[in-house]
Amino acid sequence: MSKIKKVFICQECGYISPKWLGRCPGCQEWNTMLEEIDPHSRAKESTSKITSLGTRPEPITDIVIDKEDRYSSGMEELDRVMGGGIVKGSLTLIGGDPGIGKSTLLLQVCNWLGTNHGTVLYVSGEESAKQIKLRADRLGANAKGLYLLCETNLDIILGHI
Ligand SMILES: [Zn+2]
Repeated sequence: MSKIKKVFICQECGYISPKWLGRCPGCQEWNTMLEEIDPHSRAKESTSKITSLGTRPEPITDIVIDKEDRYSSGMEELDRVMGGGIVKGSLTLIGGDPGIGKSTLLLQVCNWLGTNHGTVLYVSGEESAKQIKLRADRLGANAKGLYLLCETNLDIILGHI
């Protein structure tokens, strides 16, 4: 497995340097270089992971879908909209006007999953843990398996997962 390389990236122009610099050679700004994971080493690592998994093409007729491949959301109507429940390993984008109830709906689903299926990590990129906790108290969503994380950096979020 290839090692994840750290580099310094200018937060203004994206200039990449192997060592820290007080002034960016790309845009001449001062104190803009921050240590991050080298995006190239990460790309290489994910490619090597895919090869090591040894995934190979299979005939579509050999692929079996059973009920175990979906989680119930705990809401009959939402399960119906999602074609019979939440597909394991899938990504779902919930859209709607501000205040329409996206966060409330998802907190209820997370609470149900945290009660019935195990541990759930609720990651928020805009609300604080206290704001979410206030809503959770109002909804009675206090499952033991429900964890909150307020973070926007994907590397940190993946680390916690
Ligand atoms: Zn720069």
